[in-house]
Amino acid sequence: MDYENLDPQDWNAMRRLAHQVTDAAIEHTRDVRNRPVWREMPDSIRIGFTSRVPEDPTPLSQIVAEVNDTVMAYPMGNIHPRFWAWYMGTSNVTGALADFMAAIQGSNLGGGNHAAALMDGQVVQWLREMIGLPESTSGSLVSGGSVANLIGLTVARNRHAGCDVREEGVAAMPKPLRYYGSDQLHSCHQQAMETLGLGNHALVRVPSKSDMSMDVDVLRSLVAQHRSEGLRPACVIATAGTVNTGAIDDLESIAEFCEEQGLSFHVDGCIGALIAIAPNNRWRVAGIERADSVALDPHKWLHAPFEVGCALVRDKSAHLKAFSLSPEYLKPAARGLAAAPFLHDYGIQTSRGFRALKVWMSLREHGVKKFGRLIDQDIAKAAYLSALIEQATQLRLLFPTSINIVCFLFDPGGRSKDELKALNTEIMLRLQEEGTAVLSDTTVHASHCLRAAINNHRTLPEDLHLLVAETLRIGNSLIGDG
Ligand SMILES: *Cc1c(COP(=O)(O)O)cnc(C)c1O
Repeated sequence: MDYENLDPQDWNAMRRLAHQVTDAAIEHTRDVRNRPVWREMPDSIRIGFTSRVPEDPTPLSQIVAEVNDTVMAYPMGNIHPRFWAWYMGTSNVTGALADFMAAIQGSNLGGGNHAAALMDGQVVQWLREMIGLPESTSGSLVSGGSVANLIGLTVARNRHAGCDVREEGVAAMPKPLRYYGSDQLHSCHQQAMETLGLGNHALVRVPSKSDMSMDVDVLRSLVAQHRSEGLRPACVIATAGTVNTGAIDDLESIAEFCEEQGLSFHVDGCIGALIAIAPNNRWRVAGIERADSVALDPHKWLHAPFEVGCALVRDKSAHLKAFSLSPEYLKPAARGLAAAPFLHDYGIQTSRGFRALKVWMSLREHGVKKFGRLIDQDIAKAAYLSALIEQATQLRLLFPTSINIVCFLFDPGGRSKDELKALNTEIMLRLQEEGTAVLSDTTVHASHCLRAAINNHRTLPEDLHLLVAETLRIGNSLIGDG
């Protein structure tokens, strides 16, 4: 009997096709600047994504051609030098090659005694070293910052629950827990609180000051008030780099306060934790090394292709105690492939991809010092853009730019807030639709604004000049003055 398998029928044909794909991939990246950042898909392309499951085979070369035409031609655009929306990394070719090699090896990073598992642990330790946490810290590479935060918040919940919460559940907790973050907190924390069964109410939004960092005096009084009300303050979530404006909470003061109060100190460093490696700006995140747990995102400021986040937990035994399980089919052995601690004991996934390789290869290729310089460079680019905005009379900077996020408005004068919001939204959409630049918008302390997050190693000064010129051109044409 002949068994079927998934290997190529013709290895040489596969080799040729793989070379073509590689060549196209290199050109795709090399020529990214010549393409629009983003463009709308025609219906003819869109409809292709509604076809039924294929029953019969198609030649691979035809499939690759189709993917080139329908997928590669309509990217999100975040590897483009003029993509500055939300908060993403800009990827890199080495990381993409690493993802290919990782997939070819196909190892499952649930753990085991093999090289990829050792590398996974090594990358966690490299990231820990970059942030300055002690060597005893444990960690895990995860899908991204949302899961990395969930891990830190889970360890904090279990520490303060006052019962065996894994066994008995949150209903057995003697006192309701309270977590504290600024009102600029990322939405994933609410999701984490809901997922953990603590509920959104348990997440207290501490007002931010005019610099958008958490008001630590208010934090102090809220914690005292909650104690007197019979609640149990558990954890302060400090943000090192908020999504809205890049504000960094006062990590030293919060660390001090958490020590004094016996609270867990968690840092959401998805944006800014890695500023710790940037020579000109690392002072901004002083105190991060005092955290009980940190969430960070190599797919942001290390530009690893999606996905890779990292959770770090100072107390390794608390980390293990929160997640470890060894069912009868996953027992470590004395020798052989299972003779190693299982990495799935540090999080919520069982099977895990080989995320470490793309981080490891890029860090080896460039060295961590260069990544530090790139972070400084992005912060300098944001300062440059802010200066251009301040020089343009019709543009207004909403807040002083602290790191790499610039919040601004086209404001020709004499218009209400609602009119300005409509005008600026239209500018943002036209910049996207014309393929010039991708920005996003937000509302901070009740003010709507356009927002450029410059986490982009490809952005050049000319790109920032173009953004300003096109914003002014579109703005003026919309008010009938251009
Ligand atoms: C991006 C981000 C997150 C979420 O991280 P993902 O990698 O998207 O899951 C959380 N917090 C902050 C501050 C972020 O910028």
